[in-house]
Amino acid sequence: MEKIRMTTPLVEMDGDEMTRILWQIVKDELLLPYIDLKTEYYDLGLMKRDETDDQITIDAANAALRLGVAVKCATITPNADRVKEYGLKKMWKSPNGTIRAIMDGTVFRCPIVVDGIEPAVRSWKKPITIARHAYGDVYRNAEIVIPGKGVAELVFTAEDQTQIREVIHEFDGPGIIQGWHNLDGSISSFAHSCFEYALDVKQDLWFATKDTISKKYDARFREIFDKVYHEEYEEKFKEAGIVYFYTLIDDVVARVMKSEGGFVWACKNYDGDVMSDMLSSAFGSLAMMTSVLVNPDGKYEYEAAHGTVQKHYYKHLKGEPTSTNSVATIFAWSGALRKRGQMDGIEDLVSFADALEKAVIRTIEEGEMTGDLALITSKTNVTKLDSTGFILAVKRRLEEELNAI
Ligand code: NAP
Ligand code: MG
Repeated sequence: MEKIRMTTPLVEMDGDEMTRILWQIVKDELLLPYIDLKTEYYDLGLMKRDETDDQITIDAANAALRLGVAVKCATITPNADRVKEYGLKKMWKSPNGTIRAIMDGTVFRCPIVVDGIEPAVRSWKKPITIARHAYGDVYRNAEIVIPGKGVAELVFTAEDQTQIREVIHEFDGPGIIQGWHNLDGSISSFAHSCFEYALDVKQDLWFATKDTISKKYDARFREIFDKVYHEEYEEKFKEAGIVYFYTLIDDVVARVMKSEGGFVWACKNYDGDVMSDMLSSAFGSLAMMTSVLVNPDGKYEYEAAHGTVQKHYYKHLKGEPTSTNSVATIFAWSGALRKRGQMDGIEDLVSFADALEKAVIRTIEEGEMTGDLALITSKTNVTKLDSTGFILAVKRRLEEELNAI
């Protein structure tokens, strides 16, 4: 079979530890034999970040903006232990944080649903994607512990020194206060990313706030989403046969629990933090969760939602067998290849991505899986494979799928 040709390179961001090992095996076994793979390679492994004073991360993010599609391996976010372990010059920032700041995107997390790994919520038949706003609110707050009697006020001073004031509370005794903010620009970017993503996957978009109680702050989110929708997306949504649905946060939570899934759920920052952890554990496993950063101009960065699986890596270094799940890493590649294929009009690349994902799902559904899934599956008589064994089991099905095209 002739290898599939690519026109534009993908931005490839390599990473750390066990996921770096999986990265190479996935490329060698599942990609390079079938695709004339073109990538612009950035090594975001911790040593390289240290060596380049983290310039490599900035270069990689700018390359993603330039080329439009990136695929990223999990990376270590250094803490004090890692600084010692790797003898780092300093405690470099989270690469994901740096990339997000440069690309200005929204993170979408979506579970990979397979037969035999049943969601904890019985009605869920299709995946639910969470879109989390990644700026402001409680994550950029100002807080004061109130020592006793007094008045707390909210004060805004304009450049010309005029002020807007609002009493928060007249305290009779000790208490607490907190200030939040957000920006019209950031909310608008968030809205654009959500509408673009929903169109891309052809799923309804749900959004909720508490604007009955927060008549200015939360209402602003609703108003900006409404405006962006009516001005830019209403027609496109109609054409795609999908719906934008706004309601209250407590109402949406009740509806999610009774739904069958299959939609995108846009969440304010805190709601997204809390709800994405609930969703991923209810759908089964962090190793079965994809994550994609979408910027408001439609540039994409695909990755797995889990980390570098440090404990498995240390076993691997000692020469012990590991059974690390590569599904989310494989789906990061298939997502990026499909998007590249769609942007460049290469149908073979899109079909390859579909075949690869189908092969992964078939492998698990036919009873071959890594240890994390073998523990929670409802299937009986399953075979637990090691890290490489699973990828080779996928390869066998991939060949069948490709032959059938
Ligand atoms: P982790 O790598 O997600 O792993 C935590 C545990 O979850 C593992 O020990 C393992 O449990 C299980 N697990 C996660 N992914 C798995 C997979 N693919 N297959 C099988 N089991 C899996 O989180 P961490 O150990 O807290 O973090 C390790 C490093 O990753 C840290 O340095 C952190 O900074 C980094 N990190 C990076 C990203 C990113 O780049 N996106 C995200 C999160 C964390 P068992 O040990 O019970 O098998
Ligand atoms: Mg969290």
